[in-house]
Amino acid sequence: MYNRSMTRLTAIARARVQNGELPCTNNPSVWAGPGHDKPCSLCRTAISMQEIAYEVELPRKADFAPQMLLFHIDCHTVWVVVCSEQPLASLS
Ligand SMILES: [Zn+2]
Repeated sequence: MYNRSMTRLTAIARARVQNGELPCTNNPSVWAGPGHDKPCSLCRTAISMQEIAYEVELPRKADFAPQMLLFHIDCHTVWVVVCSEQPLASLS
């Protein structure tokens, strides 16, 4: 099991959303599946086969190539909450 506090994850997510490393989107496509030991887009820890990973497909934008994000369940929750705090102008 991973052991990280939601407070710390939220701080990381806010910083990375604000500096543009972690995109937000209004209308993502999300799938859930086993982790395949790939790193989480938020905490960078590998998501094991025993854990559920959320795969988020970002819609194509002018200044972004199409992109997939991968999250632990907790990290996905934090990402959704942090993105909901962002001004709408940054989402368009
Ligand atoms: Zn994570």
